[in-house]
Amino acid sequence: MTPSTANKNSQIDSKFFDVGITGGGLAGLSLSILLAKKNYNVILFEKEKYPFHRVCGEYISLESRNFIASLGFYFSKFDLPVIKKLIVSSPDGNYINANLDLGGFGVSRFCIDNELKKLPKKMVCIF
Ligand SMILES: Cc1cc2nc3c(=O)[nH]c(=O)nc-3n(C[C@H](O)[C@H](O)[C@H](O)COP(=O)(O)OP(=O)(O)OC[C@H]3O[C@@H](n4cnc5c(N)ncnc54)[C@H](O)[C@@H]3O)c2cc1C
Repeated sequence: MTPSTANKNSQIDSKFFDVGITGGGLAGLSLSILLAKKNYNVILFEKEKYPFHRVCGEYISLESRNFIASLGFYFSKFDLPVIKKLIVSSPDGNYINANLDLGGFGVSRFCIDNELKKLPKKMVCIF
């Protein structure tokens, strides 16, 4: 079975898979992609249906950019904001701010999960 997505009604031959992973958040998606790149046939079980929203600050440190790009996420496809400043405010109007030396980029999990789940041919997502 080669398509990268399926649903609960799809016929799945369990003998076809080397690895099963439960949970298609960043950890499950990343691991699935890394294993698929090593030629393992991976089945990923996610209880939600992609794309879906999650509660998230939508900030990812630039430290992770190269790794996420190496998974196959095309940064050039999206016009993602670069975030260099942190501001924390309180209801009474006080705030503190700080420069973030390394900085990060803003991306929704709706977007990043949905892109990653499309990737390797050797990975099948079930939702
Ligand atoms: C409010 C909040 C804001 C955050 N903001 C940021 C931020 O700005 N930047 C940042 O880097 N990190 C942020 N984080 C942390 C980040 O969300 C987590 O580090 C990251 O989601 C962990 O990834 P994960 O794959 O381990 O878990 P998750 O992303 O939680 O993924 C787990 C997946 O498993 C699925 N699942 C659960 N049970 C089952 C089941 N029985 N069968 C099938 N599937 C199942 C769930 O649907 C989910 O998709 C934030 C976290 C919270 C709570």
